[in-house]
Amino acid sequence: MSDRVALPDQVRYHAKWVLPITAPAIENGTVIVEGEKIVWVGPRHHAPPNGGNVRGNVRDDELGDAILLPGLVNTHTHLDLTVMRGLLEGLSFFPWIRTLTAARTDVLNSTTLLDSARLGVIEGLQHGITTYADTAPDPAGFDAMRELGVRGIFYHETFGPDPEQCDRAVDDLRRTIRALRPNASPLVGLGVSPHAPYSVSDELFTAVAKLAVELQLPLATHIAESEEEQSLVVDGDGAFAAFLNGRNIPVHPRGRSPIAMLERCGVLSPRTLLIHAVRTDATDRATIAAHGCGVAHCPASNAKLGHGIAPLAAMLEAGIHVGLGSDSMASNNQMDLIAEGRLAMLAQRATAKRDDVLDARTMVEIATLGGAKALGLAGTIGSLEPGKAADLAAFTIPVGANPVYDPYDAVIWSMAGTPAVRVVVAGHERLRDGEVVGYDTTSILTRVTATAARLAAWKAQRSSRSSPSSDSATPR
Ligand SMILES: [Zn+2]
Repeated sequence: MSDRVALPDQVRYHAKWVLPITAPAIENGTVIVEGEKIVWVGPRHHAPPNGGNVRGNVRDDELGDAILLPGLVNTHTHLDLTVMRGLLEGLSFFPWIRTLTAARTDVLNSTTLLDSARLGVIEGLQHGITTYADTAPDPAGFDAMRELGVRGIFYHETFGPDPEQCDRAVDDLRRTIRALRPNASPLVGLGVSPHAPYSVSDELFTAVAKLAVELQLPLATHIAESEEEQSLVVDGDGAFAAFLNGRNIPVHPRGRSPIAMLERCGVLSPRTLLIHAVRTDATDRATIAAHGCGVAHCPASNAKLGHGIAPLAAMLEAGIHVGLGSDSMASNNQMDLIAEGRLAMLAQRATAKRDDVLDARTMVEIATLGGAKALGLAGTIGSLEPGKAADLAAFTIPVGANPVYDPYDAVIWSMAGTPAVRVVVAGHERLRDGEVVGYDTTSILTRVTATAARLAAWKAQRSSRSSPSSDSATPR
């Protein structure tokens, strides 16, 4: 797939419903795109005459009975782990993360990881996702996003629970970023990611935060996710503490909460993305808001792994920029942000025992502009406005979403699982009628399936050899 394909001078997308996000929904709306940008949004009958002042190639795209909205923003992925969808079912968190790490080390390589990441982007495009915030210790997701022509930030992960690993980890990260930087583009940028409190020492958090400032890069970290992590940070206790003690790595209480620990280490800033933030109290939320951090809310992953329900409504009330994240396919099994939004709504209302918590309009905003704000990209994407990048997703309204009284309600309550019919990134059509444009999806799927067979064999051999808790793998 190449950006060298010439764009038409003007494309006019017409749909039953257009959701600009920053303006009210438009029935029978039109979005006009010139080159990589949106130039006009409004009711079709007000659209400037075909072509306007443009001389040259003008194309009308009749989307019909569809909802056209900004491309969805996935604020947390591990694209390279798509091949592990379904591999780790039934494991509790600690053996889950250790088995994941061992599988990656023992079975996968840069080629198979890249195919896995490609499949992740293909799935995302099929669900209308145009932007990905991907974290991984290898650049497979970075390469896959560039190859498939989507937008994203690739946060390169770093690990080091022992303070003695700090200098080396920072040197390695600096070297990696230097190597990747020539391939960064206006569409796919770079960031850094100290992985999580159980795999990163305070020293390394502090050093990576400084490096991010020095290199002017955004930072993402998994934080306040599990009970085990909370025990480690607050009490210096629990399963992660036992594991680290077993490796002679010093463990001590590190703060009144994981968020307080990050603040002390200088990690919090407007360019910081906090992944999960399940365990936050009012003080933590005020801290996150005061520093202007974004949050990646991953309700399916948090529920599936038994971590709980992040206080989404309270975070929004505190003024925090929140986006939706799928997390990896090892911990979610689907990359469908509409399904994620529906689950988020249900979980918030069930928790609050109230029917007036959030609404579908807000949830569609979280899946688009909210994600863009969380990633610091709201100047470019997240809404349909003249001057913004032409990142669009259209979904044909399925029978099961009819009748449509309100398009936001239709999207969130009735359109989970609906495949996108059209996806455009920076003016380039990346998905047409459900097919990734100019890309051989079948051969990727064949190769990923072959890798999955190797992973299954590895897992069978491993479980016949030992229990997952007795291996020597390190947590990610
Ligand atoms: Zn993650």
